[in-house]
Formats: sequence, C-alpha cells, structure tokens
Amino acid sequence: MHIKDKKKVLFIDRDGVIVKEQQVDSYEKIEYIPHVFEALRTISDKEDYLFVMVSNQDGVGTPSFPYESYIGPMERILETLRGERIVFDDINVDFSMPEDDAPTRKPKTAMIDRYRSDEYDMAASFMVGDRLTDMLLAKNMGCRGFLLDKSLDIPDELKNTVALQTDSWLDISAYLAGDESLRIRKAVVRRKTRETDIEVLLALDGTGSGMYTTGIGFLDHMLSQIIRHSRFDIEGRTIGDLEVDEHHTTEDTAIALGEAVLEALGDKRGIERYGSEAVMMDDTIAFASIDFSGRPDFIFDASFTMERIGTFPSELIRHFFRSFSAAAKCNLYLSAREGGDSHHTAEALFKAFARAMRKAVKRIPGDSALPSTKGLL
Ligand SMILES: [Mg+2]
Repeated sequence: MHIKDKKKVLFIDRDGVIVKEQQVDSYEKIEYIPHVFEALRTISDKEDYLFVMVSNQDGVGTPSFPYESYIGPMERILETLRGERIVFDDINVDFSMPEDDAPTRKPKTAMIDRYRSDEYDMAASFMVGDRLTDMLLAKNMGCRGFLLDKSLDIPDELKNTVALQTDSWLDISAYLAGDESLRIRKAVVRRKTRETDIEVLLALDGTGSGMYTTGIGFLDHMLSQIIRHSRFDIEGRTIGDLEVDEHHTTEDTAIALGEAVLEALGDKRGIERYGSEAVMMDDTIAFASIDFSGRPDFIFDASFTMERIGTFPSELIRHFFRSFSAAAKCNLYLSAREGGDSHHTAEALFKAFARAMRKAVKRIPGDSALPSTKGLL
C-alpha cells in the first residue's frame, strides 16, 4: 500500500481528556474538558484522522461500578459529541482492574493492535492522553502523543514520543493544523568515528536538566555550566580516545552539540536569532555574542595564564567554541578579561556562551516570521 493511502489515527483517551472526572458513573459527573468540542471539530474538518477512543474504565461490572452506571453516561457523552459532528470510528474500553494485568489494559496494546497493520500510518498517528501511561501506549504503538497535563515530568524514555505537552486542546488542534510555533524543539545526534562515539539528546525549551559525560572532569564541569545556564535539557555522552589525548573528545563533543542545536532550531522561524551576555566571575569578566545566521564565523579574544586547567589543556577551550560555531553554523564572538585564575576565565566564558544562546533561541510569542530579510537562515 502506498504511504499516502494509509490512514492516520488520533487515539483519544476519555477521562481527563474529553471529560474531567476519572470515574463517570452518573450523569451528574459529566463535565467536559474546555475546548474539546472546538478542537476535535477543527481537526475533523481540516485533517484526515480516524478518531479512536482508548480508555481504561477500572472495574466496570463490579458492585462498586455497575455496568448500568457506566453505559448511560458513556452513551450520553458520545451522543453529545455526535451532536457536534464529532464521530468516533471505533471505541475501545477495558474494564479490568490494574492488578489483573490484562493485555487489553493501557499501556498494553491488545485492544488496538489491529491498527499496527499496513493499512494505518502509525508514524503519522497520535494518542491524546492525560497520563504517562497514555504516552507509553503511544510509544508501544509506534505513534506519538499529546500529553494533556503540563504538570507531569516526562521521563527520558518518553521524550521522543511526546510531541506536545499542554493544558489546552486548542494547542493540539493548532499543532495538527501545522502551527510551527508549538513544535517541540529537540534533536538526537549520534556520531561514531574511529576516535569518538557520541550520543546527545537535546531539547531547547527545557529547564536546564540533564548531564553530559566525556571522561574529562573539567570538560564535564563546563558542559554542566552550558546545561544550567542555557536551560536546554541535555543528556549526552562522549566515549573518546582519551588514551591519545583530550583533543578528539573535546572537538567532537562540541561538533555534536552544535549539530544538535542546529537541528533542534529547525527553520528558525519566530526566534530572536541574536543573543549577547556578559558574565562576571571574581576577577574576570567574559562576554559572548551569538548569531544563528546559518554561517559559521568565530572570533575569540581570550587567553589563559595557566597552560592546563586541572589536566585539561587551556588551548582546547578556543577549539571547543570554534568547533561548535562551525557545526551550529553560527557567528560566535567570545572575549574575556584574563584574571589570575584560568578556571574562572573559562567558566565565565562557558556561562556567557550558554546565556547568549538561551537568548538567541528564544521564541517570540505569536511570531512565525524568519528573523532575516533574505528569507533563509
Ligand atoms: Mg485519562
């Protein structure tokens, strides 16, 4: 079957997604999530998704949740949606309890396994849910997810599954209608050469969490400054030929980070593009200015009185930034007043660099224009 003939599916949870209550066992408990009708109507009008409900309803048919208490409100919900011309192609509800460990219970996929066939395009399909188990279901199905709860922390293993985390159905309909400003800006870079083996996961709109390890203590310390002060979420590791020296590991780490930032920025619509920052540290002050111009250029006006910081050769600091600039295709200017302590000078440079990046990648709310008169960055 040709890929464009394959059907796309929007799997939709019920409780916490269509209605607010987690156990709707009476008509009084039906209360709809804001904008659910408007959003599903928009998606149904503009896009080509099958709507498939996937819900766990714990213990329906037991004395504490009799079938009659379940089915009346369920039919009322579906009828109200139909009244708004929102029609589900398929309804899948599991009645088991968590301890039953049923194969039909989310995040297990037995209820909807038939969608993992050649007839459907799971890579273009989504699951809308309010829990991490819904996102895990999406991962298990090979589709992506919209997590309708902004307060949840997304674990690393689901970061590539969650396309959007939001409190509003309107964001979901806008996303599916192609609104770039809602795109999650992240990238995964894997590089393997005879000298290094690298993996980096990077998300620009993060909180400054994660860790990067290289086996070089000083460099790891500087990379944690980048994470903290850029507020990017970064998980990474470089396994390099440290038995030779620090050179390849430092250079390739900078290249991988630059590639990840460039990829996560996408077409750069609606970003500030320029960022500058000065950072003081005791007897030194460092300045960084960055322009995600699409062109690499590099000016470095700093020197170090100490030849090595710890075991790390000071000259590799310049090389790190130059390699980043080349890979991220950015103009990068760095300068620092040399104080007595090269560790401080280096740390101030890394902090200023991270904070300048944070400003440059910032999205301007409501702006989807390219920050260039050339029409390309
Ligand atoms: Mg739910």
